[in-house]
Amino acid sequence: MVAENLEQVRKNIELACKEAGRDPKEVTLISVSKTKPVSMLQEAYDAGSRDFGENKVQEIMDKVPQLPSDIRWHMIGHLQRNKVKYIVDKVALIHSVDSLRLAETIEHEAAKHSVTVPVLIEVNVAQEESKFGLKTEEVLSLVESVASFPHIHIEGLMTIAPYVEDPEENRGIFRQLKKLSVDIAAKNINNVNMSVLSMGMTGDYQVAVQEGATMVRVGTGIFGERNYAV
Ligand SMILES: *Cc1c(COP(=O)(O)O)cnc(C)c1O
Repeated sequence: MVAENLEQVRKNIELACKEAGRDPKEVTLISVSKTKPVSMLQEAYDAGSRDFGENKVQEIMDKVPQLPSDIRWHMIGHLQRNKVKYIVDKVALIHSVDSLRLAETIEHEAAKHSVTVPVLIEVNVAQEESKFGLKTEEVLSLVESVASFPHIHIEGLMTIAPYVEDPEENRGIFRQLKKLSVDIAAKNINNVNMSVLSMGMTGDYQVAVQEGATMVRVGTGIFGERNYAV
C-alpha cells in the first residue's frame, strides 16, 4: 500500500512539474511519518524514500536508531527550545524556525556539537491564529539577524497552508511565500540561501509544486489517515 501510494504521489508531482514547466528533480518529496510505526517507514524506505518528516522530538529520537542511517530526517513541527539539544545533530533540516530565541538556542547547541544546522524560516502566510510561524513582514529582519550565526544556515522558507476543501484556495498563499523568498534572495544576504520552499501537503501539494515548491510534505497521501488516539 505504502509503495503504491508513494508511486502515485510521485506521478502527481511529475505531472504538476510538467504543467509548470519545471524539472521534477527540483522537488523533494518528504514522507511525513509522524504517528506511524517504523515498519511503515521501512516500507517507504524500501520503495525509495530517503526523506522523512516528523513533528515530535521524542518520536525522531525513537525512530532514528531503528532505521537505515542514510535517511534524511526533517523536523517539521513546532520545536521547543529545551528539546533542541536532542535533535540538533540528527536532523537534515529544521523547517520550523519561528523566533530569534529558538534560532539562538539552535546556534548554541549546534556550536556544542560542532555542526552547522540547515534551517527554514516558518511563515504563517495565512495568519491563522492556531498556527506557528512569523508574519510575512517579520521574516526579513529575522533572516538578517540569523544570517550572522556561524552554526546555522538558512536555506529558505516554509509554510503550513490552511486546511481547505479546494486546493486552489491555497494557490495565493503559495504565491506569496514564493514572492517573499524571491524578494529576500534579491537582497543577497551573506550566509543566506533562499533555494528551498517547503510548502504543500496531501491536500494541496500539486498546486504548491505549480507555484514553486521545492519540498512537499505528504503524510496521509502516503501512509493513510493518522490515528492520534493510539
Ligand atoms: C502532518 C504534517 C504534514 C502532512 O500532512 P498531510 O495532510 O497528512 O499530508 C505536513 N506538514 C506538517 C508541518 C505537518 O505537521
